[in-house]
Amino acid sequence: MKAWAKRVVLFGVDGAGTFFEQTPTPNMDRIFQNGAVSRRTLTEIPTISAECWGSMLHGVDCRRHGLTNWVTGKKPYPVDSPYPSVFRVIRERCPDAELASFCDWNNVNFGIIEDGLGVYKYHAKDYDLLQPAIEYINNHDFTLMYFHFDSVDHEGHAHGYGTPEHLAMISKNDEYIGKIVEAIEKRGWLEDTMIIVEADHGGTPPDANGRGSHGGDSEAEKYVCFYAAGGGVQHAELHDMLVRDTAPAILHALGLEIPHTWNSRVPGGLFADMPENLPRPEGLPLERKEPQPKPETGRFWERFSTLKPALYLPFESFNALPEGTEQQGKLYLVDGVRGHGMRFDDGSLSAPCPAADECFSLTGWVKLNAVESRMPIMGVHCPENPASWLYVVATEEDHLVLTVRTLDAEKTRNMEIGLPPQRDGVWMFLAVSFDAESGTTGFSLNFEPFLRQQLPGKQLFLSGQYPRLFLGRDDVQGPGQQFPGVLDDVCLYRGVLSDEDMARLKAYYMD
Ligand SMILES: [Zn+2]
Repeated sequence: MKAWAKRVVLFGVDGAGTFFEQTPTPNMDRIFQNGAVSRRTLTEIPTISAECWGSMLHGVDCRRHGLTNWVTGKKPYPVDSPYPSVFRVIRERCPDAELASFCDWNNVNFGIIEDGLGVYKYHAKDYDLLQPAIEYINNHDFTLMYFHFDSVDHEGHAHGYGTPEHLAMISKNDEYIGKIVEAIEKRGWLEDTMIIVEADHGGTPPDANGRGSHGGDSEAEKYVCFYAAGGGVQHAELHDMLVRDTAPAILHALGLEIPHTWNSRVPGGLFADMPENLPRPEGLPLERKEPQPKPETGRFWERFSTLKPALYLPFESFNALPEGTEQQGKLYLVDGVRGHGMRFDDGSLSAPCPAADECFSLTGWVKLNAVESRMPIMGVHCPENPASWLYVVATEEDHLVLTVRTLDAEKTRNMEIGLPPQRDGVWMFLAVSFDAESGTTGFSLNFEPFLRQQLPGKQLFLSGQYPRLFLGRDDVQGPGQQFPGVLDDVCLYRGVLSDEDMARLKAYYMD
């Protein structure tokens, strides 16, 4: 195969979506004036960083590579995966190639690009990557160089995507790109180096709290721009491009074959020998299916009014979160049991519980993307009165733990429920019911009759104190694990739930 380019540089601008087009980018305008562009490149859904960068670098959809923000922070990508990164493919074919990755978000270096390939990995805030990267260029005739810039996404989360702050940071990133390309130009490499700028995802306009997010499938979240020039790239407008087509584009530029396991293609029109889009190959199939509850049949709140729901979180939009809700870190709206759910890889939520007196219950759908010890799923406690609380955590390999501490008890009490054999990536329905009169707590998984246990104390909270519901975070037992999963339809009730109520909930959701 013909090698069009000697080198490829891929600039990844996190959270820039298609917003490059709305702000001055004089350096990119100059670099790509005779290049190729795709302004409606579809990224992965959920539109979350690890899913999208994973697909861009591994040439497959996110269900195949299985990368999430949580996973990429926890473990290196397996070196024997059938879905290798573009770095691994180059290394296997070109043992002497010099490869480098300069990342602001170190999850790419740690969890997306495999270890042991001799890739030079550097991690710093994006503006602090420039000098070391320029030194690297001055001393190495590299084959592939990847950059991850994160500050655009930070501005998007803090102010909303498409806001002046977000756009100004894209222009700032354009300066970074200009400086790096200048160093390549000084080496006399501009002609035979393919330069790419691309985003992993976009994001939403400011919500009621003035913050932006991503994870969902709105136009502003799921479309990104892809720009390429140099190294044989033609002056062209590309069509029907997916983010995962970036990896084949890089290999094709270097004259390397595309792995048959990938389900991506070289964008038609990018190179002279590939003028049209060919059908995207199926790649190595994925064998997995997830049971899905039936679609919504009538409004939850109205259907279950007799159970006295006091707080209902269907997670359909950030704007719909109840007043007094506090967000920490980054939260994402992703596919839920119905409509959207909320993913907690990088953040948590707390909401006021309206008048949870002596009796109350809590239900919610949970999808665990991994099972580790002490992952806080949901809990209730009074921030002013840390003496009593209730928490559900996922723990060890095979069970969930509910931990309760009542006002007059010295010690905590645990209840355990076994997890089903297939637990990763499967929706499960959790229910907890606290009955102050009989002094029992009930715990149920997947609509099974409640497992009930006598508690040493009579009441959980002092009356008159307003507890808060905590999701994805455990403030009582100290900061620890993240909860790498999705919650949907979380509901807090003012009464005790019976086994009959569980059957009604099951009929509503499942049958
Ligand atoms: Zn991102």
